[in-house]
Amino acid sequence: YELAYRDIRHVMRDTVVLLEAQALLHGIELESQLDDEPLWIHGVEDQLKQVFINVLKNAIEVMSGGGKIQISCRREADDIYIRIQDCGPGIPEETLSKIGQPFYTTKEKGTGLGLMVSYKIIDNHQGRVEVESEVGVGTTFAIIVPYVEP
Ligand code: ADP
Ligand code: MG
Repeated sequence: YELAYRDIRHVMRDTVVLLEAQALLHGIELESQLDDEPLWIHGVEDQLKQVFINVLKNAIEVMSGGGKIQISCRREADDIYIRIQDCGPGIPEETLSKIGQPFYTTKEKGTGLGLMVSYKIIDNHQGRVEVESEVGVGTTFAIIVPYVEP
């Protein structure tokens, strides 16, 4: 694992390529909107990829009826916002605070560790994760990390 300057758009493109076949198998389209300019971060590429995989896999798992998952990567002032938006069942307000706690899962074969690990990795990158959800509409995970030019 090595700390380096990375253009997050490339990390996201690689992740999407990795998961595209699995998504299509479930009738899900991954649609990405990426800024035209490089989105520099200082971080560990494999760890960031792991975070994107974890959040995207959760999104794929809740979109049982197929549909579109929207991904965007954009710079907003000194931060980079990576948003992953699904049209799944959403998360009720009373359980929103449990998301990311170790072993919290609503899946029969879930581990409840994916988001905990993801939050830890983003925390190590001086970032944060915000979750917005509406029951019956869907969920958006926003991963926010500082923009750091090489
Ligand atoms: P696991 O996937 O093994 O259950 P995670 O840490 O990845 O563990 O996720 C924990 C829980 O958070 C899930 O079981 C689910 O209840 C909830 N969750 C995560 N992502 C979503 C999502 N996109 N929509 C609805 N619920 C979600
Ligand atoms: Mg998971």
